[in-house]
Amino acid sequence: MKKRRCSNPKLKLSLPSTDSIEKFLTKTGTFKDGDLLVNKDGLRIVPQDEQHEPRLINPSDNQLTLADIDTIKVIGKGSGGIVQLVRHKWTGQFFALKVIQMNILDSVRKQIAQELKINQSSQCPYVVVCYQSFYDNGVISIVLEYMDGGSLADFLKKVKSIPEPYLAAISKQVLKGLIYLHHGKHIIHRDLKPSNLLINHRGEVKITDFGVSAVLTSTSGQRDTFVGTYNYMSPERISGKTYGYKSDIWSLGILLLECATGCFPYSPPNKKDGWINFYELLETIVEQPPPSAPSDQFSPEFGSFISACAQKDPNDRKSAQELLKYPFVSKYEDVDLPSYFTSAGPPLATF
Ligand code: ATP
Ligand code: MG
Repeated sequence: MKKRRCSNPKLKLSLPSTDSIEKFLTKTGTFKDGDLLVNKDGLRIVPQDEQHEPRLINPSDNQLTLADIDTIKVIGKGSGGIVQLVRHKWTGQFFALKVIQMNILDSVRKQIAQELKINQSSQCPYVVVCYQSFYDNGVISIVLEYMDGGSLADFLKKVKSIPEPYLAAISKQVLKGLIYLHHGKHIIHRDLKPSNLLINHRGEVKITDFGVSAVLTSTSGQRDTFVGTYNYMSPERISGKTYGYKSDIWSLGILLLECATGCFPYSPPNKKDGWINFYELLETIVEQPPPSAPSDQFSPEFGSFISACAQKDPNDRKSAQELLKYPFVSKYEDVDLPSYFTSAGPPLATF
């Protein structure tokens, strides 16, 4: 196989501070948005009959409070904040706690509140469970299902590239998660990328960060600082056109191709220097033909799956439901994902 230089540009954009936290904090330290209340004791949806004079949230409303968990260690860092491994004091159960600093505009806060509501109502084995969220002193904390294998991005760094049979098994689970989000919940993920696919020792692959981080990414112009990636963003989103579920399908194609080859599919014009500025990368995604799987290295089934995702016109892309029926997804039998995921190193902590 030919050796290629990999380039996966992390694009940075810093913007001046535009808002203060006080603007959306009520006197009680609770923030209210329509039928939603969030404070340090948790998130509560206010019933219709209480809408005029909502009762404050108190710890007894929620099974899980921040006082009930011990922090073990920081397990990840993202553009919005940190992720910690925590353990429930009484049951010993592990969770991941995502902590986001909320120095953002009122409108963004509203979107986040909405997303948290959707997150907590999501129930699907292919989507990371969001158990609870808290808001205290300008910080949002979200208690998530802990995935002991970390993200697919972490895993890819260790294994360099992922062979087709494992990719097929991974794709099957991600597609089922996307079918749930798209057709079941009518949600566009908007930020599908290797770091938002989490894995565990049971061989499970789950989608995370739909909603909250996507709001932060898509409204980055309104945040005081933003460091994120546009690498997986579809051409129609980059061009500011309307976009829908098919935008996630583009991202899926790009990320799978990256996992297969071990390299981000777009290479810089000047191979020595990497991407000089991110407009160059965005322009390439919009202007150039889409990337594809090299036919000398990959099966025709994988090639046709990728080209069904990486079509520049969203109307030419297949839906998650259609892709699940593609021959690539069921080409390989008896794929042992649990052994494969644990072969790269032991899990951080297990139940
Ligand atoms: P960005 O903020 O740019 O979107 P990101 O997705 O890596 O990047 P976070 O969502 O904050 O940022 O996650 C940071 C890291 O924390 C992930 O890459 C992953 O390694 C780890 N992580 C996140 N959620 C969990 C979880 N539920 N279980 C285990 N590890 C997690
Ligand atoms: Mg993430």
